[in-house]
Amino acid sequence: MTFRESLPLLANFIDGEFSAPASGRYIDNFSPATGLVYAQIPNSDASDVDAAVEAAKRAFPAWRALSPLARAEMLHTIADKLEARTEEFARAESIDQGKTLRLARDIEIPRAVKNFRFFADFISGREASRPIATDIAMNEVVHSPLGVAALISPWNLPLYLLTWKIAPAIAFGNTVVCKPSELTPMTAFMLGEVLTASGLPPGVCNIVHGLGSKAGEALVTHPDVKLVSFTGGTKTGKHIAELCARDLKRASLELGGKNPGIIFADADLGECIPTTLRSSFQNQGEICLCNSRLYVEDSLFPEFVERFSAVARRAKPGDPLSDNSFLGPLVSREHREKVMGYLEIARAEGATFHLGGGIPELPEPFSGGYFLEPTILSNVAADSRVQMEEIFGPVVTITPFHGEDEALHPANSTEFGLPARTRTQDEARAARVARAIDSATVWVNTWMLRDLNAPFGGMKKSGWGREGAEWSLDFYTETKNICSKPGASK
Ligand code: NAD
Repeated sequence: MTFRESLPLLANFIDGEFSAPASGRYIDNFSPATGLVYAQIPNSDASDVDAAVEAAKRAFPAWRALSPLARAEMLHTIADKLEARTEEFARAESIDQGKTLRLARDIEIPRAVKNFRFFADFISGREASRPIATDIAMNEVVHSPLGVAALISPWNLPLYLLTWKIAPAIAFGNTVVCKPSELTPMTAFMLGEVLTASGLPPGVCNIVHGLGSKAGEALVTHPDVKLVSFTGGTKTGKHIAELCARDLKRASLELGGKNPGIIFADADLGECIPTTLRSSFQNQGEICLCNSRLYVEDSLFPEFVERFSAVARRAKPGDPLSDNSFLGPLVSREHREKVMGYLEIARAEGATFHLGGGIPELPEPFSGGYFLEPTILSNVAADSRVQMEEIFGPVVTITPFHGEDEALHPANSTEFGLPARTRTQDEARAARVARAIDSATVWVNTWMLRDLNAPFGGMKKSGWGREGAEWSLDFYTETKNICSKPGASK
C-alpha cells in the first residue's frame, strides 16, 4: 500500500529525527472500534533498519560511558514527560488498540512511566561491582552493556510492553532499535516526541515501524545487533530463536499462554468473581496473563457459573473511549475471525454457552468495529483445541474438578507455562498447588499483581529467560569476572 494523501502519516524515529521510510511505502493503520483506516505507518525495510542500527552503534560508546546516575536522570526525565501526557497517550492507545480508555489511563500508561522510573532507581541504587573474596581469589564481578539491542513488541499492551524493554536496555548502557507491532504503532511513534523533549542523545533509542517478516526479521538478523528481546506469539518466537541461534545471539522470548485458574470451594466469592471478570475479559482477554481456563471445585461449580455469568452479562462491549464500556473491540478483523473459529469448534463439539458467542449489535460508528461478546463456555473436552490452544480473546472455559490432582493434571496439560492463579483460603493447599503448577508465575488469591522486583517470564513454550530487576540486568549485560590473586605483588 502506498501513501494516501488525506491520512496522517507516521514516521520512523532514527538518530533523533523523524524520517519517512526509504522506499516511500506505507501500511494502513485501522481503528478497531470502527474498522476504518485512520493513519498510515512506514512499511520499513532493511535499509531503514540499517540506518537505525548504524545510529544506535554510533551512539553506544558515549551512552555506555555515562555514569549510571546520569542515565538514571535521563530515564526519570522521560518518565516525567510521558506522565505529563498520560491522557493523550491513553486516548491514542485506546483508539489504536481497542482497549478501554480507562484501562489505558489507569493502568497501562502509568505502568509505562513506572518502567522508566523503576530501572532508573534500580541502577541508581547499585554498586558498580560486586566483590567475591575467597582465600584463593579476589573476584570483582562487573556488568557491561552489549551494544545494540533489538526490541520487538506485540499489539496487546503496546507502550507498556515496549517500555518494559526500552527502560532496562538503555538503563544498563545499551542502545536500541525498536520494532513495535504494525497493528498498534501510534504510542511508539508518539514516544519519539517524548524522547526528543527529554533530551535523550540521538541514536540511543530508534524506532522502526513495519512488518515483522520484513523490518522485524532484518533487525533480528542484522550482524551488529547483539541481543534480541522479543514478546509475541510462540510460533514467531520459535522462528526468532532459530534466527538468533545461527549467530549465537542472545534472545529473551516472552511468548503465548493458556493460563489456568484453579478455584477451590472455600474461595471467597465476593472477591473471586470480580477478579475472575477481569482475569477473563480485561482488554478483551487480549492479555498474555488472562486466565482462559478455569477449573472450579465441583461442589462450587453450579453457583460459580451462575454468579460469574450474571456479573459478566453486565460487562458490555462498546465504544472503548466511553467509561460505560467494559470491553472494547478486538485488535483486528483477522484476529476476531481467529477467535470466532474457536467458538465454531466449541459449538460443533457440543459445548455449553453460558454467555456470549456472537458479535454484538452496536450503533454507528461502531457497526464495522471488531467487537465480540464476552463468552463463557463449559462442557469442553479436556483435549479440545479450545482447551489446548491460545485463543487470546474474550473467551473462558470452566471445568469442574474433584480433588487437587484432578485440577492439576489438566492445568499442566498444555504446552504453555505463563502465569496461573489459584483461589483458596487454605494456605497449605495454596502452597502445594502453586508449587505443582507448571507456570513461571502463580498468583494466590490475586491476579495480575506485578512487582517489577520479581522475575517474569514463561516456562515450556511460553518463553525463554526471565526479566525484571536482577534478571533484566543479567539479560541486558555481559557479566564479567575480574579475578586477581590475593596478596600477589602489584
Ligand atoms: P506476533 O508474534 O505475531 O508479533 C509480535 C511482534 O513480532 C510484532 O512486532 C511483529 O511484527 C513481529 N514479528 C513477526 N514476525 C517476525 C519475524 N519473522 N521477525 C521479527 N519480528 C517479527 O505476536 P502478536 O500477535 O503481535 O502478539 C500476540 C502474542 O503475544 C500472543 O501469543 C500473546 O500471548 C503474546 N504475548 C506474550 C506476552 C508475554 O509476556 N509472554 C505478553 C504479551 C503478548
